[in-house]
Amino acid sequence: MNASYDNNNIFAKILRSEVPCNKVIENEYAIAFSDINPQAPLHVLVIPKNPYVNFHEFTKHASIDELNLFWKLVKDVIDHFKCENKGFRLITNSGSDGNQDVPHFHVHVLGGKNLGRMIN
Ligand code: AMP
Repeated sequence: MNASYDNNNIFAKILRSEVPCNKVIENEYAIAFSDINPQAPLHVLVIPKNPYVNFHEFTKHASIDELNLFWKLVKDVIDHFKCENKGFRLITNSGSDGNQDVPHFHVHVLGGKNLGRMIN
């Protein structure tokens, strides 16, 4: 699927249950769990279960069903924490300019307080 995918990244280990996570919800193609170093009262990561390095690889290679259920899970996290009215922020970091640390595509869902300006 993607030759440069590192099977030893921490999210791959979480998906193989080698490392624990605080799971929020999941569906057939994606799982949502708490970020280990939360930057806001709500900080959840949504990741696809299949191995994609970043946003571009995910959108290029994922099936329509996979794309659909991934973004549905992001929406379900927002509903789960009832933050649709007060608001939230979605972030995906990619590559060196994006300062992506974990090379498995993920979306950060942040909320629970006023998050200030996008980039300080
Ligand atoms: P990024 O810089 O976008 O790659 O963000 C990676 C995120 O993964 C950071 O917010 C980390 O706090 C988070 N993280 C790293 N290891 C774990 C883990 N074992 N469980 C949950 N979140 C993690």
